[in-house]
Amino acid sequence: MRSRQEEALEEVKTETPMKIRADYEERGLDSCHFCGLRFNVGERIPRIIIGCGHTFCTSCLSYFLRNGRIRCPMCRKLLKSVESVDKLPLNFNILYEIVTKDPLLSRVNFERCLNADPDMYGDDEAYERDFAPYMC
Ligand SMILES: [Zn+2]
Ligand SMILES: [Zn+2]
Repeated sequence: MRSRQEEALEEVKTETPMKIRADYEERGLDSCHFCGLRFNVGERIPRIIIGCGHTFCTSCLSYFLRNGRIRCPMCRKLLKSVESVDKLPLNFNILYEIVTKDPLLSRVNFERCLNADPDMYGDDEAYERDFAPYMC
């Protein structure tokens, strides 16, 4: 006869890997935990709430921002003196994931974008039309 503890241990052993995997998929690192929408490089750019490290999309963060404070909806930690959500650091790991997974964005040369002279692509209309919304 096995003890309850042994049974519990057995359960943990068999169930844990599955749970972790499901959890990981559910967590969907590429989507915002609050609105459930996928991050993008526009209004749902992923930003980190400094102080607790949770990441949400900029659109949700601007909604949380009240009187210069942001209350993290995950851990309830209060972040004070937030001038604007634009001041919060971007989550580059997620951003990188989005950019490399997006067939259109992965074609954008961000290096070029950073060094770009705004008139450089003036005569390349197709490039402008496709990529202009993503330009910094
Ligand atoms: Zn969101
Ligand atoms: Zn938090």
